[in-house]
Amino acid sequence: MLSPIDHYLQALHARLSDVTSGELASYIPELTKADPAWLGISIVTMDGVAYTVGDADQLFTIQSISKPFVYGMALADRGQENMAEKVGVEPSGDAFNSISLHPRTGAPLNPMINAGAIATTSLVAGRTTEAQWERIESSIATFVGHPVTVDESVYRSESATGHRNRAIAWMLKNFGIVEGEPMDSLENYFRQCAIQVSCRDLAYMAATLANGGVHPLTGRRALPTEHVGQVLSVMATCGMYDFAGSWLYEVGMPAKSGVGGGVIAVVPGRFGIAIFSPRLDAKGNSVRGIEACRHLSRDFGLHMFQQARDPRQALGRVYTGADASSRRKPAGPARQHLIDHAHRIKYLSLHGMLGVDGVEYVIRCMLGMAGDTDCFILDMNQVSGLAESAAQMLHEVRRALAADGKPVVCSRVHRRAAILQPLAKAARNLDRGFLVFEDNDLAVEWCENRLLQGLGATEELAVPLAESPLLRGFSDDLLRLMDTHMSTESYTAGDSILKAGEAGDGRIFFIETGRVSILVPLDDGGHQRISSLGPGMEFGEMTLLGQTQRTASVVADNDVRCRVLRVNDLERLAQQAPQAKILLLENLAKDLAVKLRGATQWIAALA
Ligand code: GLN
Repeated sequence: MLSPIDHYLQALHARLSDVTSGELASYIPELTKADPAWLGISIVTMDGVAYTVGDADQLFTIQSISKPFVYGMALADRGQENMAEKVGVEPSGDAFNSISLHPRTGAPLNPMINAGAIATTSLVAGRTTEAQWERIESSIATFVGHPVTVDESVYRSESATGHRNRAIAWMLKNFGIVEGEPMDSLENYFRQCAIQVSCRDLAYMAATLANGGVHPLTGRRALPTEHVGQVLSVMATCGMYDFAGSWLYEVGMPAKSGVGGGVIAVVPGRFGIAIFSPRLDAKGNSVRGIEACRHLSRDFGLHMFQQARDPRQALGRVYTGADASSRRKPAGPARQHLIDHAHRIKYLSLHGMLGVDGVEYVIRCMLGMAGDTDCFILDMNQVSGLAESAAQMLHEVRRALAADGKPVVCSRVHRRAAILQPLAKAARNLDRGFLVFEDNDLAVEWCENRLLQGLGATEELAVPLAESPLLRGFSDDLLRLMDTHMSTESYTAGDSILKAGEAGDGRIFFIETGRVSILVPLDDGGHQRISSLGPGMEFGEMTLLGQTQRTASVVADNDVRCRVLRVNDLERLAQQAPQAKILLLENLAKDLAVKLRGATQWIAALA
């Protein structure tokens, strides 16, 4: 089924099909071979979905749209300060092929006009022009998300006729802006302009810039975050040449056009947009490309100075350790203590791209709750990025709350650089930063342990068999009889006690001392810990219900001693004392009811 976005794009395409003004670029003879009727539009979302209409997969040459990307490479290779000496960032107000150089230094005014772009191409890392070319080609491929090729006939066509660019390159050599052999760098520039892309490819390149430099589908980083804003700035002020001012006024998106007929526009954090339509206006911008961007900006409200954000969107659900406890169920006084105090653990589920505005709101909520809270868990599962300034503020509040004895921990960061990098940066100066847990269960268990700290080390104490929940209601005689049918098994930290998938051998384990983790295997080969059990608790008891295969693995977390009952021995025992089996099954049914209620509560808390 088509989405409303598809319907919108189809209507826009139909509407623009009637626009036939403009001319194909002819100063590069090969470009006149394009079909003037071609029209493709593509929009890529931040989770990598492409909406396309029309000739979105027709290949054409990227031309000047390569300029901002190569500028990004040069920034990454040379650093911003070095680049500033070679290429400026001032709009020239002149045409793309103008010779706009600083009167004294000879530095081109900006990297979006040809002079600046030729200089930029010569400054990309690489000991030889061939190595520089490889860097350009592979980096463009990372932006696109797949390998790219050069249209050799367009390249040769421009190389044979591009004398104006040749003159510019020699000028740049004269001023010492181009360091190597200028004609070799110029050939790289011509080749870079002749890279073949589709409208869909361009939309992914734009989306990669919108997504902070990471390709939204491949997840590969094409540009360090710190340069993304710099590239977008020159696109905003210089991307449309001598049309840049009107463009910013009306459309309000950083953009770049090329004489091949492509236009890209970037809506940071939201969309990458591309249009392909080869007829150009007098300034060398695609007529229908500009028109399409006007419509999109107006209809979707994309102008960058007309954005309103609600900071409250940064915070999703807030719930407590009483709504959703860890899956570990301690025995004895610890259990009651948690029941009484678990509401003092607060989970905050954070959302989206976190900037200072959103984090300010989150922090305000945390401080409001602090009186009633012992530990905070920041669940980062739904966070897509974190501004450095926001990370800084989170660190500050963490340290302030920690000084008050209230730790703040993170969960589910999932090794994502977009979150880890700003956190790491904020945590310099001898501070180890946030404690990060792989899942909420581990995080809340850590918080529960803190709540229990005052109670003494309950876990090391051996819990007698009589206190096992499965043996509730057993008389002393029955317990003694039972004990004669059991054996003892000991394990050390890391020992595998049961393996998921193994045929059940009918053993039921009663933990006397130590702690075990219950793990379920995941598709990716890893494990998810579903619970942790300690003294006075049992596992493997499902075998009583005829389960033949173990569904979870059990691993010893430390030194563990268990009493073990085999189902066959229970049957023999039941011949002598039938009530033993009846009681055991009755207790099991009650425990399952409690677990089911717990699961229902979790689901309700998450919904
Ligand atoms: N290769 C073209 C040139 O240098 C690129 C110009 C453009 O796309 N605006 O003239």
